[in-house]
Amino acid sequence: MLTVMKFGGTSVGSVEALKRVSEIIASCKGNVVVVTSAMSGITNFLEEAYSVLPFKAAEVAERFEKKHLEVAEALLGKDNMSAFLKEFESRMKVFTTLIQDDSSRLNDPYYMDNVISQGERFSSLLLSHQLILMGKDSAALTSEDCGIRSEGRPMNGHADLRSTEAAMGFMIRPYLDRGCIPVITGFYGVMENGKPLTFGRGGSDYSAAVIANALNADLLEIWTDVDGFMSADPRIVKSAVKIEEMNYGEAAELAYFGAKVLHPRTIEPIRMKHIPLRVRNSFRPEDCGTLVSHLRRPREGLLRSIAAKTDLSIISFSSSEMAYHPDIVSKILSMLSEEDVTLYSVSTSLSTVAFLIHNNDVRKTLKKFNGSNDPNIERIDIKSNVALISCVGDSLLSRCGVSAEIFAVVKDAHASVQMISEGASDVSLNFVVPMGRVTDIMRMMHARFIEGGQPKETE
Ligand code: ASP
Ligand code: MG
Repeated sequence: MLTVMKFGGTSVGSVEALKRVSEIIASCKGNVVVVTSAMSGITNFLEEAYSVLPFKAAEVAERFEKKHLEVAEALLGKDNMSAFLKEFESRMKVFTTLIQDDSSRLNDPYYMDNVISQGERFSSLLLSHQLILMGKDSAALTSEDCGIRSEGRPMNGHADLRSTEAAMGFMIRPYLDRGCIPVITGFYGVMENGKPLTFGRGGSDYSAAVIANALNADLLEIWTDVDGFMSADPRIVKSAVKIEEMNYGEAAELAYFGAKVLHPRTIEPIRMKHIPLRVRNSFRPEDCGTLVSHLRRPREGLLRSIAAKTDLSIISFSSSEMAYHPDIVSKILSMLSEEDVTLYSVSTSLSTVAFLIHNNDVRKTLKKFNGSNDPNIERIDIKSNVALISCVGDSLLSRCGVSAEIFAVVKDAHASVQMISEGASDVSLNFVVPMGRVTDIMRMMHARFIEGGQPKETE
């Protein structure tokens, strides 16, 4: 049995947290591979520091070193530091050299990936040495050591699963065969030229899924600071409950459209190999969390979960007879992609194509299109401050009359639907409403479709 266990920033964010997760790791039966995020606050610190490098490199290095050394002393004890310090000093040397490197900062678009991914190298070291202190065999390994292959744009990489699998099996097996627990850096992989490329903020979940895929693990456990996936955001819907089980499709939709439990790309590498995932709370290890697998189990209500993504805008482009000129749509799409604009939904009619984008992307999008003076685009309209509500449930769309039931609730909440996307996946129905109505709609839908009671307008 091989379990890949991933710990998030808060799970390794303090001496107590590191001790707690070491106990969790030590009590796991069979082979274990650990993947860790940086200690909470460290990646943000590095992101901020990035803008003042290399002028304040010495100050950045000093604060970074002090933080990790203080934790190490309190965790391991002053008398048990020598093996730790040897590895710590060599990693610190790499870090200080890196942040003084002015020429890379100016010329290398991937330099930020390198700086910002440094925190994981130190949290993994702390965790590994704590396991050794507890009498376990453990080794702190970097993504470079393990051959995790990454490709793509700066701060937005994805793994090359095939070459990662080929390299990792070879690198990690000897550790597992001798009963050693590797503690591996999350968040980044290594490009062909040997330099780090991150998987975007929150990317350690994805790293863990890539590692589980590469090692053909039996189980992936993502340990975080919440109990698992919830039927809705409990800050909005007080009666939200934890979801015991769901399938990969539901989890992927939820992670993408709102629930901040998992990095949205975590599901694909494990779904490919049918590796089950458990999302668990490291502060409440007695709770078994949410199980995500390929199983389909009937549920009682119509929906499994409702999520919302807020602060979005609808941008629509009009051109007479656009539907007969697909080249106009493809041109708009490539211009949006050049600006790296994420699209949350698309809808078309004879003379318009509308996209759902983040409020923050509106300005650069308008600038791009106004600058292009394309005669084919006759008008651009913006509707800001809308939200996307995502209703998730297995085989949702194969059930008759689902949209009618859902939109009846929107009507009862005196709101209008501004855009719909249905049918792209069988597990979700998404629609856009004004931001001001989101809370009521979510509460009413939760009451009707998850709790099974009568909808209430306010709680
Ligand atoms: N440390 C990285 C971040 O804060 C990666 C992660 O935590 O998953 O984004
Ligand atoms: Mg996270």
